[in-house]
Amino acid sequence: MANKSKFQAIKGTRDLLPPETELWTRVEQTARSVFGTFGFGEIRPPIFEPTELFARSIGLDTDVVSKEMYSFQDRDDSSVSLRPEATASVCRAYIEHGMHSLPAPVKLYYLGPMFRRERPQKGRYRQFYQIGAEVLETIQPGQTDAKSLDKDAAVDAEVIEMVMTFFARLGLEGLQLEINSIGHSAPECRRGYVELLRAELEKVKDQLGPDSQRRIETNPLRVLDSKLESEQALIAALPRIGDHLCEACSMQYAEVKRQLALRGVPFQENWRLVRGLDYYMRTTFEITARGLGSQNAVCGGGRYDGLVELLGGLPTKGIGFAIGEDRLILSLQEAGKADAPKGRDVYIAWMGAGVMPTAIRAAQALRNAGFRVELPPAEQKFGKSLGQADRLGSRYALILGEDEVASGQWTLKTLADGTQAKLSESELIQVLSASRG
Ligand code: ATP
Ligand code: MG
Repeated sequence: MANKSKFQAIKGTRDLLPPETELWTRVEQTARSVFGTFGFGEIRPPIFEPTELFARSIGLDTDVVSKEMYSFQDRDDSSVSLRPEATASVCRAYIEHGMHSLPAPVKLYYLGPMFRRERPQKGRYRQFYQIGAEVLETIQPGQTDAKSLDKDAAVDAEVIEMVMTFFARLGLEGLQLEINSIGHSAPECRRGYVELLRAELEKVKDQLGPDSQRRIETNPLRVLDSKLESEQALIAALPRIGDHLCEACSMQYAEVKRQLALRGVPFQENWRLVRGLDYYMRTTFEITARGLGSQNAVCGGGRYDGLVELLGGLPTKGIGFAIGEDRLILSLQEAGKADAPKGRDVYIAWMGAGVMPTAIRAAQALRNAGFRVELPPAEQKFGKSLGQADRLGSRYALILGEDEVASGQWTLKTLADGTQAKLSESELIQVLSASRG
């Protein structure tokens, strides 16, 4: 009989199913545990927020805000949007809950679905999952800059170290960490560089594609992001921001590199790694993984000292990152690091009208001891039970018939080699616990 649903998951969304979901759970548990060791606590912001929050923080002339958000009118006619990322929400929550009065810095992590109306392809979905973290610290009046630059660099390096520790804990190999500094938005620093870049781009304008041509006006830094083959040689010849940082930014960048080395975190510099928004400053980083084709960025992050203030809060430093969990999972699968499906530990093959109470009691005892147990809801022939036990990938079958109930000696069959042992209930738990290793 055909089994065709009238409905299918919406394009760009998908069902995550067992056994793959076990890998998702392992990834998320590992994140919680590693981030916990760095002193981060979990925040769970809502999945939708005022559209204006994202428009302000991500920027109106980004693809995300201009065409990728799922927005709708709420009952009160206000416009709300499904979150395309979570940094804006975390900053909003930081302000809303007065977290600047908590012991600084405030270290928060989150995980959950994000939504962007993009063209779906491998590693790119409309509902995708991110694991991210933010470190926020409201600037104390009178804080001296020189000392705090070194402190910021250490915070940046520790955040990056945390991501790399998380990936290492998962057994992910072949990662590449790229870092850059984009300075700060002052005439003697990034603004000066952007003017220079704009002037150089004007000179080669007619050799650039339409996207880059447009960006010369709106956001010249973003031209450096271009993946267009025909633009690569032109871009390679452009002036580099590293040569135009102000003294403070350049010292801070040197300190980030020293701090990373101190922590044993290998990195590569990439002068083309940019963020197109004004409140992004200094450290930016990206991590790529193998086996993902062109969607190979698994983590992006950077410092955003101006964002909280832009959203109405006090001047506050911020650094954070977002990991693409879907791509992380794909990469683990490609590398053969996905978990083997976990079948059952024990399948209870029971038969006989009077046997059910014993079968239920056995299932309860085994589950309380932490074993994965399958208890068929109705009696069935032993042959059928053993076949099912096999299909479910069970390690053992516990055979319970009237004889076993009468004698109190239960039969445990090891399915791999067919051997059997007679055991009392308490011996059974002992034997199974020992075999768990
Ligand atoms: P990309 O250049 O790949 O579009 P991005 O710059 O838009 O990435 P960020 O907004 O920095 O990405 O998000 C951080 C991470 O989230 C990315 O490195 C990526 O792993 C993941 N990510 C972003 N968009 C998607 C998507 N549509 N589907 C799956 N993962 C995504
Ligand atoms: Mg994108």
